[in-house]
Amino acid sequence: MQVKCTICDNIESIEDDSFEAKRLRNRRIHMYLCKSCYDRIEYKTKQRHATGKFQLYEEKKPTDDYI
Ligand SMILES: [Zn+2]
Repeated sequence: MQVKCTICDNIESIEDDSFEAKRLRNRRIHMYLCKSCYDRIEYKTKQRHATGKFQLYEEKKPTDDYI
């Protein structure tokens, strides 16, 4: 089946019986990310996680904010 990337409109064809195809057919959400967009998002997500950890660490220290 042919799928269109939600982000860059790049059209790719995937195996009809692949996990991705089944997932797209079962749910009516047509959200498909091509490899390059997927990699880009994964990278951003990892960056956000790193930032999140940093913020968590920051929050632990100042306990006298409300005084
Ligand atoms: Zn894309």
